[in-house]
Amino acid sequence: VAAESSLKTDESARIMKEAQDLMPGGVNSPVRAFKSVGGGPVVFDRVKGSKAYDVDGNEYIDYIGSWGPAIVGAANEEVNEALVKQIEKGTSFGAPCELENQLAQDVIDAVPSLEMVRFVNSGTEACLSVIRVMRAFTGRQKFIKFSGCYHGHADMYLVQAGSGVLTLGLPDSPGVPKETTAPTLVAKYNDLDSVKAIFEANKDEIAGVILEPVVGNSGFIPPTMEFLQGLRDLCTAEGALLCFDEVMTGFRISYAGAQGHFGIKPDMSTFGKVIGGGLPVGAYGGRRDIMEMVAPAGPVYQAGTLSGNPLAMTAGLKTLEILRRPGSYEYLDKITSRLAAGMVDAAKDAGHDAVGGSISAMYGMYFTKDPVHNFEQASQSDMKKFAPFHRGMLESGIYLAPSGYEAGFTGLAHTEEDIDKTIEAARKVLSTIPPN
Ligand code: PMP
Repeated sequence: VAAESSLKTDESARIMKEAQDLMPGGVNSPVRAFKSVGGGPVVFDRVKGSKAYDVDGNEYIDYIGSWGPAIVGAANEEVNEALVKQIEKGTSFGAPCELENQLAQDVIDAVPSLEMVRFVNSGTEACLSVIRVMRAFTGRQKFIKFSGCYHGHADMYLVQAGSGVLTLGLPDSPGVPKETTAPTLVAKYNDLDSVKAIFEANKDEIAGVILEPVVGNSGFIPPTMEFLQGLRDLCTAEGALLCFDEVMTGFRISYAGAQGHFGIKPDMSTFGKVIGGGLPVGAYGGRRDIMEMVAPAGPVYQAGTLSGNPLAMTAGLKTLEILRRPGSYEYLDKITSRLAAGMVDAAKDAGHDAVGGSISAMYGMYFTKDPVHNFEQASQSDMKKFAPFHRGMLESGIYLAPSGYEAGFTGLAHTEEDIDKTIEAARKVLSTIPPN
């Protein structure tokens, strides 16, 4: 039942109507269209700190933060100031610049498993590049991913992927050749036996395992320690490489990523979002002997016109500098755990089954009774409740990801007052949704 809108959305509706004719579905990335929650998206005019402002003048507390990059707050003044200075010197060189060394050094210093990195322009690009290198290094074709994990939209990953692929109910995408996904083997998250079985059935054929070390693309799913340690040991024993896709978790779960939080050392990692501070950036990196296979040091080809551009490097450098300040992650952990607990309590008090949690600046909640350890359990969540919850929150000035299969993000600009208002709104909205 679609709630009647109390939001003023005339301008958003006008712009989205126009957009329908110009871009597929009116958007440049599918989840933005609000398809799974209905009601139509609001069109942003500007963002600042923890807030977003739409074209009809509505203000929202924003828990998407551009899907992760805005961890130091949107349109952060220090980041902006650095960007304005850099613009004067040029936005893209297509030639080496020292800022690349500086960001590479910062990322390598932060994440113990990294010995070398290569910057690209998106998380998708990082993930498609890293698998090429892993295949080249091992001389093996097959790799293992997990159902509900999203690694960007490169062909070989569009098998039981999370994020918009889940939301739209596309089990797979037309246009992806079967030959391309045949070597993509899918295991169950937090289920080491499912991984062992694939290794046994494909002896000496598996290049590696790639995973979201904390899942954010089928809702928020933390790994068990045994699972991560088991994957590390299994990969080592089988001569396969372990890759953590830290596009979402990097510099968010901790300054050293999820791998720092859990103390597991993958061979390779991918990054994006936060390291670009709101500009398009991705990165992949890891062991030196593996990274030295990348051109022009080695034979594995990978390139990019805008890769390592000084503008993106500047935004990343300033963002990491702010994150390094004492207390950043303690603060993120404090407000986010309060938010997650507050939402779950609000849901339970209104008679709903709910589970949820957070690690550092990433959180989630499902409308289900039992703990969620994998995508299969996440899909037991009552998504019928999510749509009215989402719309009700939007109308209360809270901007949540428009899908029950996405994690939520906080940042340093979120205040205790923002969290209070959000929990209060959740209490109100959840009490209007029939329990079962
Ligand atoms: N990997 C993960 C874990 C992601 O969450 C995402 C994007 N949400 C990607 C890869 C792809 O990144 P991008 O959208 O920058 O291509």
